[in-house]
Amino acid sequence: MTDPPPLVLFSPRMKSARAHLISVMLGPLGLPVFSVLTLWAMIRAPVSATDIFPVFIALELLIYVGAGLSWAFGLALLSTAVALAGFFFSPAPWARALFSLYGVLVWALFAILNAFDHRRDITWNRFQEEWDGLELDLSRIQADVENARTVVEDSQTRINAFDRLQLFTDDLVGPYHRDELLQRALSGLGTMFPKSRVSLHLFPKPDVPDPNDELGLKMLQWGQPRLLPDRGSTTPTWEPGLMIGLPVKGRESFLGWISLEAKQASLPFQIHDLRLASIASDLVSLALGNTERYSQTEALAISDELTGVYTRGYFNERLLEEFRKARHNGRPFSLVLLDIDHFKKINDAHGHHIGDEVLRWLARLVMAQARETDFVARYGGEEFVVIMPSTRGDDAFRFTQRLVKTVGSTPFRWGQKSVKVTVSAGVATLSHEVPNEEEMIRRSDEALYAAKKGGRNRVRVYDR
Ligand code: GH3
Ligand code: MG
Ligand code: MG
Repeated sequence: MTDPPPLVLFSPRMKSARAHLISVMLGPLGLPVFSVLTLWAMIRAPVSATDIFPVFIALELLIYVGAGLSWAFGLALLSTAVALAGFFFSPAPWARALFSLYGVLVWALFAILNAFDHRRDITWNRFQEEWDGLELDLSRIQADVENARTVVEDSQTRINAFDRLQLFTDDLVGPYHRDELLQRALSGLGTMFPKSRVSLHLFPKPDVPDPNDELGLKMLQWGQPRLLPDRGSTTPTWEPGLMIGLPVKGRESFLGWISLEAKQASLPFQIHDLRLASIASDLVSLALGNTERYSQTEALAISDELTGVYTRGYFNERLLEEFRKARHNGRPFSLVLLDIDHFKKINDAHGHHIGDEVLRWLARLVMAQARETDFVARYGGEEFVVIMPSTRGDDAFRFTQRLVKTVGSTPFRWGQKSVKVTVSAGVATLSHEVPNEEEMIRRSDEALYAAKKGGRNRVRVYDR
């Protein structure tokens, strides 16, 4: 408690104000009376001025001492001195009575004021206690408000974090390939932790970190997100730290890890950052699992179940793409359609399952003959198709002829038995008259029909 509040009615300073009041009351009454009486006594009384002088000195001393104690007390003493002097030096009995009354009145007044003072002090002290209590309450309220503010700010941070997590999740949902997904995860983490540097550390092989990647080895061992004091450290901490390590795990394998490094040493990661990053890392793992599944499904969708070559649907996509590319680059490209001769008979003679094996065998043979850049697909039941990018008609013809010959001279064997299989083929090549990719199919089909008509086990190139 330092200063009284401005609306206080009583203050210690009022003591001097009251002393002033007393002096105003007693001064005009006491001092002139005292002076007149003293003069009168010096002239009329049977005492000499030299006798009175020491009394004056004593009285003044009393006044000074009294004034030192309090103004009121000092003035009361002064008035008492006046009353005593008047009493002793007055020759008239009425004057003595008057001075006695004056002395009594002065002390009565002093007593009354003192009592008033005392009451005021009690009130003042009580007020002060209450004020102190109020001030204590106020500081408690201030602390509560401060706490509430921290809680609100903390909640706000968390709500923001959840919003960012929501965006992060939305960003990971989609049929992405692994690398695309990881790229999205990195940029999402960068948005979620704007004051940090995000880096991906992929292992050279799944589950096998680089032997020099000390933290990678540790991450593999922990398998969990960890908060670390700094980049060089491999001992996790529960204190705020400058680095977070997140595992990158797919469904079956540990692919690597992601590091979040605080850009400013004064803004380390807190435990709740680790929690948030852990959720993010779990989401990335889930999304990676989906991605793996998606890739598998995609592979299933584009490859033929029986023979392993591409499906007709995927062939259609690739043919269109190849047609456009060839058109755009002004390069040739050829298409080969193959069909097994009298396949029905093979089925009829040896059974459908042997027919299936023949289809597999032929697919392998075509794949083995085809170049890296060629694209082999199963077009229909026992029909296969080969897209040959950047290949002129005569080259495609030579390739197909070699293939037809190889098939015809390589009997299909199973157990002790063997069966001779032959194929017919039609070749079409891109020219200016071909308006679209469907025309390429139509032309190769027409050439194939010509080969069949021409006796089978042969190749025909489309020509008008
Ligand atoms: P061609 O020389 O005129 O082509 O005679 P083909 O008997 O090969 O011709 P066709 O188109 O009449 O018969 C094709 C047969 O291929 C009919 C069908 O039973 C058989 N086939 C189609 N798909 C499969 C399959 O996946 N497995 C087996 N085992 N047979 C199949
Ligand atoms: Mg057929
Ligand atoms: Mg056939």
